[in-house]
Amino acid sequence: MAIAHNLGFPRIGARRELKRLVEDYWAERINLERLEEGGRVLRRHHWKLQLQAGMFRLPVGDFSWYDQVLDHSLMFGVIPRRFGDVSPDLVTLFRMARGRAPGTPDARACEMTKWFDTNYHYLVPEFEPGVEFRLSPERLYAELEEARAVSNDLKVVLIGPLTYLWLGKAVDPEFDRLRFLPRLLELYQELLRGLAARGVHWVQMDEPALVTELPQDWWSAGQNAYQALAGQGVRLLLATYFGGLGERLQDVLELPVDGWHLDRVRGADMMEPVHAALGPEKVVSMGVIDGRNIWRADLQTLSVSLRGCAEQLKDRLWLAPSCSLLHVPVDLGLEKELPDELRSWMAFAVQKLRELRVLAAVLPGGTRVLSGGGREAAAAEITTSAAVAAARHTADFSQDTEVREQCSMVQESMARRTSTYAKRSQLQRARLGLPALPTTTIGSFPQTPEIRRARSARKSGMLSKESYREGMQEHIRRAIEEQERLGLDVLVHGEAERNDMVEYFGELLQGFAITQAGWVQSYGSRCVKPPIIHGDVSRPRPMTVEWIRYAQEQTSKPVKGMLTGPLTILSWSFPRADLKRSEICTQIALALRKEVQDLEEAGVRIIQIDEPAFREGLPLRRSQWPAYLEWATRCFRLASSGVADETQIHTHMCYSEFNDIIEALVDLDADVITIETARSNMELLEAFSRFQYPNELGPGVYDIHAPLVPEEEHMMSLLRKAAEHISAERLWVNPDCGLKTRAWRETRAALHNMVRAAHRLRAELGLT
Ligand code: GLN
Ligand code: ZN
Repeated sequence: MAIAHNLGFPRIGARRELKRLVEDYWAERINLERLEEGGRVLRRHHWKLQLQAGMFRLPVGDFSWYDQVLDHSLMFGVIPRRFGDVSPDLVTLFRMARGRAPGTPDARACEMTKWFDTNYHYLVPEFEPGVEFRLSPERLYAELEEARAVSNDLKVVLIGPLTYLWLGKAVDPEFDRLRFLPRLLELYQELLRGLAARGVHWVQMDEPALVTELPQDWWSAGQNAYQALAGQGVRLLLATYFGGLGERLQDVLELPVDGWHLDRVRGADMMEPVHAALGPEKVVSMGVIDGRNIWRADLQTLSVSLRGCAEQLKDRLWLAPSCSLLHVPVDLGLEKELPDELRSWMAFAVQKLRELRVLAAVLPGGTRVLSGGGREAAAAEITTSAAVAAARHTADFSQDTEVREQCSMVQESMARRTSTYAKRSQLQRARLGLPALPTTTIGSFPQTPEIRRARSARKSGMLSKESYREGMQEHIRRAIEEQERLGLDVLVHGEAERNDMVEYFGELLQGFAITQAGWVQSYGSRCVKPPIIHGDVSRPRPMTVEWIRYAQEQTSKPVKGMLTGPLTILSWSFPRADLKRSEICTQIALALRKEVQDLEEAGVRIIQIDEPAFREGLPLRRSQWPAYLEWATRCFRLASSGVADETQIHTHMCYSEFNDIIEALVDLDADVITIETARSNMELLEAFSRFQYPNELGPGVYDIHAPLVPEEEHMMSLLRKAAEHISAERLWVNPDCGLKTRAWRETRAALHNMVRAAHRLRAELGLT
């Protein structure tokens, strides 16, 4: 019979237990022992859940205190020198991730960037010249022992050497990091032998890099790597996900491994060639349940399509989620407030495992008893699943004829500003009267406990609408005062009323649903709760105007209207599966366009439309980029172009490499773009100068993700560097991102230094 297994379980905990644990440790409310104990409890709980759900080969090594890529860096001794000669322990791990850890000196945190096309962030391995790789597998071994207390049927999960190296960066850009591969492979071999000696039979090697268009030399290196990793005493399951393998499929199937995991949700075409090519001993793991979305699978259709394969392969067919379940929330069982119909369409991690188990049970040979009933129970679940799939297709719950009509009437002219940037900028300069190198922030100010308390009191009905509004206005007023005192030029209202930049809009837009506990890890202890797009999107009433108007009334300086852009709302939600992304996005863009026009109407002179997820929406395969960029830029412009020339449109992006999408950024035609650059030392700006980025640019001058106060001198040197790339007349001065995760004390100190740096540079460049 086919067996069900899991590639990885969300480590954060259904109630975000992991977040609480590490944050308690960082704030020194608990010590290291308590932290470690909490981790053991959580891991055990997750293994038990998976065991109860009927999973085989429980994953070990999918847990992480912060990030799995960072774990590998520690395990291989890839620790940048600035952290000193330290042991690869938890303290070092947190220092590398955050720049600080209890009882140690601060240091610059490692760079963080997005894990493939997800909203999960990993810490970029830094390969310094002369790095001394050294294997420290103790933590993994210890987790293995813990797992043994739950089950003996285990599978160790590692990031494969190719992907690990691919995601890293050589500190000396001239250096080809593939040259580290031989040494790295020695460590992997040693590790595999170590695992074999500890009785491990299966190791899952995650190689999502294989679904991208890897350059030929990387692919050849990969072939050599897997030759080298064969015969180390364990069986290897080569796991690829986030897409199909395309023209590489045959080659990948020829690698000397014992099994393959393939993403059948995104690479549906991969079925047939696979079992034709399999040798008699080989295993194939079909990723049939979507690990990237929250919709229930259509098990009926799946069981039909898998039947032939199951008959042929028997227990060499494994069924799995398409990728690790890291990217979906833990348990739908905690959701009590969703409409019943919608809820019946959904599945979170725990439910997805159940789906796998049910599927395995109804496939040929699947006689093993399901918990809660045998084959009949499974058959009943299949019938329900088919009924849900049918209901979803026909539900009027999801249709809005007016929205469909508006989308069909969109004209190209609606996606263009009236005049060119050159003309607009003159009008805007005259109207705004800003100094050179204007200073601003990205939008949010610290989300204090007081703000959070007010929001949850409002939610539970303890606080009246009126008192809530007054409370928020008070926060806005204080934020404006702070900014005036600091001498910033363009102010923000501070986003106190927003729990999250996407959820806030999801709550106010039609066609979205919000979960109570649908948390997904974004980076470290930070989680997001993506809204669910289940229907056509429209805007019943203005969403932000009242707050921004209030903020503007408190000051004569310009206050930026602040919106989350259509691509980001789409990317950070769970989208419906029955409409193209471009169509969903157009609907969101039209709703935002009205908001932008209402803000303008209310006298707001600058409107920022954040698109931090713009780049992350890119397909993993470059050949599909042009099509995405075409509709993505059009949607942004659709949202932003319905205003007069005098109204200044800003956008903001972070965690991105901009080099390869710079033309699309030009195409967005925002008057000002603020971007994250501090962690990478302004390296990102080269592209902007190479392509002669024509509009205004605010390269972030300090990293807001680390709790350190940046020095004036450092920011000046970054700005000087920026001025080499883009003319100082078009430069803005701002942090890397919003400040909501920071405390006021450090925020004040940091912005104080930033404003001084801008003033001094104005003088230095003779711009005052
Ligand atoms: N305006 C948002 C903020 O300041 C932008 C956040 C983001 O880019 N992720 O929080
Ligand atoms: Zn940002």
